[in-house]
Amino acid sequence: MPQPPKILLTNDDGIHSAGLRALEEALVGLGEILVVAPDSERSGASHGLTLHAPLRIHRFDDSHFAVSGTPADAVILALHHILSAPAAICVSGINPGGNLGENVMYSGTVAAAMEATLHGVPGIAMSLATRGNQDFSWAAATARQTVERVLRDGLPPGVMLNVNVPRGQPIGTRLTRQSQKISQNIVLEKKDPRGRPYYWQDESVALDQVEPDSDYAAVLAQYVSITPLQADRTDYPSFKQISAWLQP
Ligand code: MN
Repeated sequence: MPQPPKILLTNDDGIHSAGLRALEEALVGLGEILVVAPDSERSGASHGLTLHAPLRIHRFDDSHFAVSGTPADAVILALHHILSAPAAICVSGINPGGNLGENVMYSGTVAAAMEATLHGVPGIAMSLATRGNQDFSWAAATARQTVERVLRDGLPPGVMLNVNVPRGQPIGTRLTRQSQKISQNIVLEKKDPRGRPYYWQDESVALDQVEPDSDYAAVLAQYVSITPLQADRTDYPSFKQISAWLQP
């Protein structure tokens, strides 16, 4: 009897998040599920590692573990300490909110999937691209379809999938490219009760800048967006220009 594939689940919202629970329920029956996630909200943690503090693991049961670190920490501990055999796939999410365009740079959801990819484990980041709406049902169904396909066919080495699902029922799926940053940073200054300033950052999105073949455009048109992202960030077209600098 072949062993069922080991499916590692994680996120950047913490082990108690509703999106992670929806993901776990959606994947029942596809393999042996192991959840290893940060013990608290780490959205925006990007690919950070905890290098100057100890990490702790809290075991809830044989398949649920919270890690006192970042999403990337959780994946590393899962792959190198908690899992007894190699993972077949790692799914991160379901994030409540899109991970679109150049904002994927900040995303702990995407970083966790990329961390798995760096270890040779196919990674998928799953996000529900809407604020406020907590109905994960379509994103969960999309996650199951995507995981079934990747378990069967794998992914190219060094490539992960960034999947964003629109609010409500999708009308199809588009293969997209990462959009440019269409959001602008906003820094709000407020005063604390002692009169000292503090700052709160947010963003505003400029929808008139959406490129037609991008992840943003797909989600706005009610499609699931699948963007393959690569670990190799080398920009090969720049070689020509920059190599000219190196001529004697
Ligand atoms: Mn998040």
